[in-house]
Amino acid sequence: MAELSPMMKQYFKIKEQNKDSILFFRLGDFYEMFYDDAKIASKELELTLTGRDCGQAERAPMCGVPFHSCEGYIARLVAKGYKVAICEQTEDPATAKGLVKRDIIRVITPGTVMESSMLDEGRNNYICCMFSDSKKIGLCFCDISTGELYATEISGSDSVNSLTSQLASYNPREILIGGDIVKIKSLPAFIKSKLSAGVEMLRDESFDNKLCTDTVNMQFGEEMQCIADSQVLINAIGALINYLKETQKNGLERINKIELYSDKQFMNLDYNTQRNLELTATMLNKEKRGSLLWVLDKTKTAMGKRLIRSWLEHPLLNVSAINNRQSAVEELVNNNMLRLDIMDALSGIFDIERLMTRIVYGSANGRELRSLAAALQKLPQLSELVADCSAKYLKKVYKEIDLLEDIYNLIDSAIVEEPPFSVREGGMIKKGYNPDLDILLTDMNDSKGILARIEAEQREKTGIPKLRVGYNKVFGYYIEVTNSYKDLVPETYIRKQTLTNCERYITQDLKDIEGRILGAKDRSVAMEYTLFDNVRKTVADNLERIQKTAKAIAVLDVLVSLANVAADNRYVRPEVNLSTVIRLKDSRHPVVEALLNDTPFVPNDVYLDSAGERVAIITGPNMAGKSTYMRQVALIVLMAQMGSFVPASSATIGVVDSIFTRVGASDDLASGQSTFMVEMSEVANIVKSATSKSLLILDEIGRGTSTFDGMSIARAVLEYCADHKKLGAKTLFATHYHELTVMQDLLDGVKNYSIAVKKRGDDITFLRRIIPGGADDSFGIEVAKLAGLPNSIINRAKEILKELESGSNAPTVIKEKSEDMQMSLISNDNAVVERLSEVDLNTLTPIEAINLLYELKGMI
Ligand code: ADP
Repeated sequence: MAELSPMMKQYFKIKEQNKDSILFFRLGDFYEMFYDDAKIASKELELTLTGRDCGQAERAPMCGVPFHSCEGYIARLVAKGYKVAICEQTEDPATAKGLVKRDIIRVITPGTVMESSMLDEGRNNYICCMFSDSKKIGLCFCDISTGELYATEISGSDSVNSLTSQLASYNPREILIGGDIVKIKSLPAFIKSKLSAGVEMLRDESFDNKLCTDTVNMQFGEEMQCIADSQVLINAIGALINYLKETQKNGLERINKIELYSDKQFMNLDYNTQRNLELTATMLNKEKRGSLLWVLDKTKTAMGKRLIRSWLEHPLLNVSAINNRQSAVEELVNNNMLRLDIMDALSGIFDIERLMTRIVYGSANGRELRSLAAALQKLPQLSELVADCSAKYLKKVYKEIDLLEDIYNLIDSAIVEEPPFSVREGGMIKKGYNPDLDILLTDMNDSKGILARIEAEQREKTGIPKLRVGYNKVFGYYIEVTNSYKDLVPETYIRKQTLTNCERYITQDLKDIEGRILGAKDRSVAMEYTLFDNVRKTVADNLERIQKTAKAIAVLDVLVSLANVAADNRYVRPEVNLSTVIRLKDSRHPVVEALLNDTPFVPNDVYLDSAGERVAIITGPNMAGKSTYMRQVALIVLMAQMGSFVPASSATIGVVDSIFTRVGASDDLASGQSTFMVEMSEVANIVKSATSKSLLILDEIGRGTSTFDGMSIARAVLEYCADHKKLGAKTLFATHYHELTVMQDLLDGVKNYSIAVKKRGDDITFLRRIIPGGADDSFGIEVAKLAGLPNSIINRAKEILKELESGSNAPTVIKEKSEDMQMSLISNDNAVVERLSEVDLNTLTPIEAINLLYELKGMI
């Protein structure tokens, strides 16, 4: 280290403590990166890699980004999973003696982002911490951009499943682990393949009982009572808070409440179900469009957007809580005017939750305070709109909306309407807010007058008519005289600069005045910052009131959104109760219905009763609508339990504790397991975790293996689900094994359904209607024809089918006569033939003929 420059020594000292982060080292107007950090950043951010002489034999690799546009660069690195440590100059370079002091002010990691430009406004950004001893898991999720902290303790034989379900629904960006968690063998693979989260093993000391208890106590005080008897939770939350303290340095007072929940409060939705039912994103391209959230989310604010997602991912089990939400939605459905007025008032309300985080953290600027004020300004109107509502939940919203007039008035009286981006350059504080500042500003603003007076005075004194007083950054104020009047310049003028046409001078008087003017500017800027900071702190001190109001706005936004969707799509209020039944009349698939343009969606009835007809075997050709039907049942139950209305003409729903799905191909092929293996392990999981209160959607079990194996497995699973001594869960069971329809007569609680099709000759039409009874035919060949398989293959398939049905296990081999080959080429399906038959050879010119030949060749 001896030959290193002092600054690089400082760099290495800081880097040593932040080895796992990319270090943004502030040098003047830039953040510079060195060595490996520079190599990584230049590659990831497409920056030019340069070098810097640091006193070593070789120049240090270096790259940098301008400080004022660093956010975008940091966002890109963090999105790729890197941590970025921000090292600032902690003293003013102008007044520092020797090397400027520098220190890390914050480490930004994927789970600790606060900047709205780096966040998706419609979703929470969670960091998760989990710790376990030999019996229990303490699990918590925190979004530092909104201050929310959710915590739960998991125990029992199903704890790993519960853990993965919750990881799937909170979908954290960063996961901290410790204790016996490392013994859960399947967890790393789950996180790697299903979540896009970075994982960090914290050292054992981070989970020290005493350290964590003290930390939690300090952070939450009384609030920690709710977790006082769970050491695993105290350790998980304590380690998380300490990690945040290390990385964020301050602003943690935003996290002031522990929302303790139990996985028994919510419907259990495992990762596969969330994905298969396309709750928040489609399976194919992971887009919101085409998901249930896309249909239901008509919220107007970012806070509402995040909350509706959370409601969707956490359907309730408590009937009265569900009814509470429904009654509020109902009132808003029935009152069109009120609903539209509330929607209007909600539009344009900024993200108060995230604004408050930046305010508490001390990083919000004048514009952000103004955004908060603009949001607060809407509160009286909102409050008045809900004042006369009668639903209990709306009354609660009304009670929790604090008008916050004092906060609004404070911001409005202090901060100008359009403040500048920077908080260090003045121009933020309104005139009249502080008399001292006003005096300073008048002084400063009068500088123009002062200078004009000097100009006039000097012109008169010297007799130089075109003498001008100007300003530049290098010399400050100067007097400019054109060359033709040079001779008239008095001796007291000190020459500073010679230009082509003129000379520039300064005088002692001018320097003195400059000192006064510039001093006033510096002082006013400093004073403005102090005043601004005080306003910001006062707002921050009111965090709790503002936070509560923000939550009430979010709830109102979600209720109005659900009501609006219900009104627009003719949904009805389902009766949710504790019965064993699901009864739907004219139910529709909310998403397919929204996506169908020309054809109307065909509604269908549903009846399932875990105490009676609990298993519905659904047969019918591919493409008939089996999976649509099964998914719509699951989605409707889920919508009902989140408090929404549902697409049906009437609905009665006995609360279900979980929905399990086993459908279609899985994306696990990448993890090296065969499709069949994945299918079976999913089924295994379902039968192990489901209860008689669950709803099971099983689509084509056993498809991944030979017919007999597949059918035997399908039948055994069916028997298990139907048997109320074993499982007895409400089950929708689609199968292409028609043989299984005999189960209706053999097992209690099993009923056959099929999807009606109309057959005329070889052609079939899907009627999309579900009818009692098994399908009498699989119509596979007809569907294949509909899909455009060539006639030659269709005809051959029919021959083979006939032979198989007549009992022959080895269908005769096709006779390959040359004639047949010829026939198949000129079959009617052939596009070439179609094109040829359109052509009138009598009118074809030679050029057209050659073109046609090219065209036909291209079609082969
Ligand atoms: P299956 O599972 O039987 O192969 P799907 O459920 O995938 O069939 O349905 C195939 C297509 O039929 C769906 O994409 C949808 O567009 C349409 N469909 C299904 N059910 C209905 C319905 N009830 N009304 C209108 N269209 C439907």
